[in-house]
Amino acid sequence: MKEDFLHYLWRLARFDLRDLRTTTGEPVTIQQFGVLNTNAGPDFDDARLRIDGLHWAGKVEMHLRSSEWYDHGHDSDPAYDGVVLHVVLEEDRPVFRRDGSRIPCLELRHRIPAGVRNTYWRLLHNAYWVPCQTQLQRVPDPLRALWLQRVLAERLSARSSTFAGHVEACGRDWEEAFYRTLARAMGGKVNGEAMEMLACSLPLRVLLRHKHSLLQLEALLFGQSGLLPGPEADESPYVTQLRREYALLAVKHGLSPLPTSAWRFLRMRPNNFPTVRIAQLACLLHRSGQLFGKCLAAADARELRNMFEVSLSNYWRDHYRFGPVADRSPRRFGESAIRSVLINAVSPAYVAYARLRGDDRYRDRAMALLESLPAESNSVIRRWRSLGWAAASAAESQALLELKAAYCDASRCTSCSVGCALLNRTDADDAPRLTLNEEAQVYRQAG
Ligand code: SF4
Repeated sequence: MKEDFLHYLWRLARFDLRDLRTTTGEPVTIQQFGVLNTNAGPDFDDARLRIDGLHWAGKVEMHLRSSEWYDHGHDSDPAYDGVVLHVVLEEDRPVFRRDGSRIPCLELRHRIPAGVRNTYWRLLHNAYWVPCQTQLQRVPDPLRALWLQRVLAERLSARSSTFAGHVEACGRDWEEAFYRTLARAMGGKVNGEAMEMLACSLPLRVLLRHKHSLLQLEALLFGQSGLLPGPEADESPYVTQLRREYALLAVKHGLSPLPTSAWRFLRMRPNNFPTVRIAQLACLLHRSGQLFGKCLAAADARELRNMFEVSLSNYWRDHYRFGPVADRSPRRFGESAIRSVLINAVSPAYVAYARLRGDDRYRDRAMALLESLPAESNSVIRRWRSLGWAAASAAESQALLELKAAYCDASRCTSCSVGCALLNRTDADDAPRLTLNEEAQVYRQAG
């Protein structure tokens, strides 16, 4: 059992409220359960209680066992002086404030409806990919839609904070921040970090001084990436020219290349090789040095999509990497790569812009953009679809990715609307009984 189960029970009053008494026998009436505190400090603020006829207003702290008060060092922390009630699964030790007064304690272990406890236990202790997957089909559509919207908002908020961090780190230069975010998005899951490192080590303002020459942009980006082969490995005229340009420009701008080991080629589709992505980035910057400005000005998803549609320079039309010649075809930034940039770079940038500039239109545009794009296709989204939760758009696929990573994998079912709905509709008698073995485990874990 986890402490957040107690939060759930308290927040939604899902325990037996009849004849409440502290562990020392004083009657307790709860007038206001308070507000869950998601920052440091006691778990609930602004609770209002009557204990033994006296009115109390203040904070409520929760633990599985009362002795955790001391384990967590609350006995010496002034932030906990205002705790008016200690709610625990079990009191194994009396708890005192710093002034020596005993904190009233309420035990819940005999007050949890069996059905609720069993449903919770089954959510936490099964080996399913999504612990509630056998019940997903029973989740009403409006609940699913509202919850996914909320999870998407959380994901966008976290990503926009990362973007805002870039804006600050770049001295409020939005174009520079967007260039870093774009580079990361173009690198995808495998080479995103290396692409961001490349962008951080080679500022946009340096690249824009050479924007007129695609060859110089390629020389800067490939030279700085560390992927440019030495003369012993490649003597072709194009690569020799890149080497010569980079040697001059590196001295001029004080650059030193990244280690080659930063990049991954193994088990990747050739179209996603970092060499192809770097060549595409060079083309994008050659075409426009004001990509973020253009994103802000774009009228709709189609205009945005067209912005990122680039064809590569001659060498890269029949190479996936330096050296071996491949089939000759126009190496375009494909549909799924463009979609990934719109999802992972443009929409968080819009949300950050809306937040930092106080312009909510861009938050709406981020949502509209995600809703207009088709859902992503990856193993997580396919798995959700096989469970009956197919994503209808990128907004939903992003929400499902977040739900899996931030809630299901972290066993945060009591903070999830689906989990709360499953627990809420469980009455004492309508849940299947636990087996004796399971029952024993519940008590072992609860201590
Ligand atoms: S977090 Fe929500 S969706 Fe995920 S397993 Fe728990 S109840 Fe189900």
